Amino acid sequence: MKTKTKIIHLGRGKDLAVKAVNPSVMRASTILFKDHKTWQEYRELRKTQRVLSYGARGTETNFELEKLLCELEGGYRAHLFPTGLAALAMVLLNYASKDAHFLITDGIYGPVRTICDLFLNKIGVEVEFIKADASDVEEKIKANTKLILCESPGSILYEIIDIPKLCQIAHKNNIPVAIDSTYSSAYLSNPIKLGVDIVVIAATKYLSGHSDVVMGCVIVNEKEFKNFDKLPEALGLTTSPDDCYLVLRGMRTLAIRLKNHEENADKIVEFLQSRQEIKTIFYPKLKTHKNNEIFKRDFVGTNGMITIEFNENIKKEQAIAFVDSLKYFSIGASWGGYESLATVTTPPRTATKIDESRVFVRFHIGLEDVNDLIDDLKQAFLKIK
Ligand SMILES: *Cc1c(COP(=O)(O)O)cnc(C)c1O
Repeated sequence: MKTKTKIIHLGRGKDLAVKAVNPSVMRASTILFKDHKTWQEYRELRKTQRVLSYGARGTETNFELEKLLCELEGGYRAHLFPTGLAALAMVLLNYASKDAHFLITDGIYGPVRTICDLFLNKIGVEVEFIKADASDVEEKIKANTKLILCESPGSILYEIIDIPKLCQIAHKNNIPVAIDSTYSSAYLSNPIKLGVDIVVIAATKYLSGHSDVVMGCVIVNEKEFKNFDKLPEALGLTTSPDDCYLVLRGMRTLAIRLKNHEENADKIVEFLQSRQEIKTIFYPKLKTHKNNEIFKRDFVGTNGMITIEFNENIKKEQAIAFVDSLKYFSIGASWGGYESLATVTTPPRTATKIDESRVFVRFHIGLEDVNDLIDDLKQAFLKIK
């Protein structure tokens, strides 16, 4: 089955003679067993499989979404989490131990730094940030390095990592590699197939696609599964079956939405290239983008994410005025919904220094008619003349 067909045909519930197109929403706390022997059987089964046992451990609706995600990524097992950040936190906690050393690429989703500062350091984990393209990974590995967490393309500046190469270096040193693959959203690239052990996706973004759900997921290969299944249960983290239904529903159109976001983003980039006010456009598809060759090799396309850096003569207040005057781009966190967004932002980076005076605007290009979006940008540029 090709990816697009998987998206349509998998995760649709049991194969019954008569059934609805979509799986039903199974809400539950208590699950009932016909006799005590069955109850005990399922206690055993749940150690290795996703089966009904208690509502907090997921119901059929959750399992259908997990199956779909696992199949798309080519993993061994998928597990859902309340948010994307919770999924990232679980991966970090799973490998945390006193005196462990973690390497995290500089382009990681910003809020991950809070987990490191508030909790990992307290446990005794030394967290070290490396270059966003992970080009310095080999020299940073230590004897006690227990995890490499990366993101490619990196948040906001979309730095590209040579993932197969990174994995080769990590595995030579027996270190598992985890990646935040929210950008790809189980479609634009499949990191497990490139050698990664653990994939994290914020389903909040393109998987849900409609800005009405927060959810995260982790997909692991068989080698790393051993540790990973226990933490969410131990900490009592769960996901609502209603939200799983919404994500499943959103995912049916993932392929066409992403294609449409990309087509719109391509046209916006083309327009932005003609603007004197802009110093750099960060968009992995551009030939001028660093590691564009690797991007072409490992990804089937881009999405609606574009960041621009204004020329030095444009100050932050002007960028704010620019964003404020946009009509069809709303101001808001998150992305991956059908709507366009724009925010003035500073990429969080510590392994390399980003001068405070640099002015960046991050766009999420939505599914509006792109000519309206371009006209909107044109009138906003007039405001900063
Ligand atoms: C949004 C985002 C997350 C976090 O997802 P939430 O569901 O909002 O917690 C993680 N990683 C990336 C790259 C994101 O963009």
